[in-house]
Amino acid sequence: MILGGTAEGRQLAERLQGDARFRTLLSYAGRTERLQRPATPHRIGGFGGVTGLTAFLRDGRYDALIDATHPFAAQISTHAVHAAELAKVALLRFARPLWRPGAGDRWREVDDMEGAVSALGTAPRRVFLTVGKQEAHLFARAPQHYYLVRSVDPFDPGLPRAELLQARGPFTLEDELSLLRSRAIELLVSKNAGTEATYAKLAAARALGLPVVMVRPPVLPDATEVTGLDETLAWLVALHDRSRAERGV
Ligand code: NAP
Repeated sequence: MILGGTAEGRQLAERLQGDARFRTLLSYAGRTERLQRPATPHRIGGFGGVTGLTAFLRDGRYDALIDATHPFAAQISTHAVHAAELAKVALLRFARPLWRPGAGDRWREVDDMEGAVSALGTAPRRVFLTVGKQEAHLFARAPQHYYLVRSVDPFDPGLPRAELLQARGPFTLEDELSLLRSRAIELLVSKNAGTEATYAKLAAARALGLPVVMVRPPVLPDATEVTGLDETLAWLVALHDRSRAERGV
């Protein structure tokens, strides 16, 4: 079973499709209203905590659980560690390499969203807020700023001076430069999500000399990690071959 919600989860399911050695199910939380349904087998909705996920893995007689969730989805990744242990299912975490600041970047890294709110300072500024719809409301603690809030789904960020921009990545550097210029943005807030699809905003900030408040991902419990799809496939094939050898097939 693949815990998804990322492009990589979907890509892994697609690469395993048609491979007779594997049967996959891609799982979504169901947060995105405008979910682009994959062509591969999938399910939508929570499991009901560690107990529910453990039962689901046992009932479906799964051999492997791949955690391909977003680096900020800490709860499901923690549940995956505990449920895999309880259900005696092999667990692999797909952990994207994070973005790193390079020459010309003006990043301030913070540990959480509260830290990001504080990092904006007291003087009113024009902020591009790309932290997703679940946490944008935390910026109500700093109502003096103008916020350009970008999200896949429409939602009310609950901020007095906010403009909502509904859009789904990937975004190009040209798109991002013209967006930042058109709203006279002075500062960006981003989660360090490490994905190519939304990196262009950081390149645009660098080109315009704008500061970025970068939120570090939460720390997750230990698990075997890989950073690429090829490595994930190699791990699955090794698991498959080992299990065949053990069964004497
Ligand atoms: P979370 O806080 O870690 O998880 C909250 C609950 O949502 C989990 O306890 C679980 O419910 C359910 N859940 C999460 N991912 C699931 C999955 N793939 N399949 C089935 N149930 C799942 O997660 P989140 O931060 O709300 O993110 C929700 C989903 O959106 C994740 O799948 C993640 O990959 C994706 N996503 C998150 C972000 C982000 O910034 N957090 C950004 C982009 C995409 P039960 O306890 O009932 O099982």
